[in-house]
Amino acid sequence: MKKEFLEQQEKRLKELKKEVESQLSQFATKDKQLKNNWKSKFPEFDGTETGGSRLEVAQDEVEEYLNRLPVEHILELKLKDINDALRKIKTGKYGICERCGKKISQDRLKIFPEARFCLKCQKQ
Ligand SMILES: [Zn+2]
Repeated sequence: MKKEFLEQQEKRLKELKKEVESQLSQFATKDKQLKNNWKSKFPEFDGTETGGSRLEVAQDEVEEYLNRLPVEHILELKLKDINDALRKIKTGKYGICERCGKKISQDRLKIFPEARFCLKCQKQ
């Protein structure tokens, strides 16, 4: 793999990382105990806007919290993939499929710079 391509990918991964972290920080806080783990914030709605009762507001809060969990999980996994990809660039293992050990095509890496698997293995 060409050095320029790797540098380009590293740049894109870092940008992607910032993006995912800023998305996460909108509704989650970084877990201080667990590295790379984020916790969804429990939302606190102001009931005065909707005019709802305290109970209704509490229900809305729970609903919103439950909505956030899967999104948080997806973003967290993406962040992990990005961090692993960045580490692989440093160790010279970037762009190699984690399952079959073959090279992942550059076209695929351009679209998914954090890809762990080649297209064939991803489909399995
Ligand atoms: Zn593969």
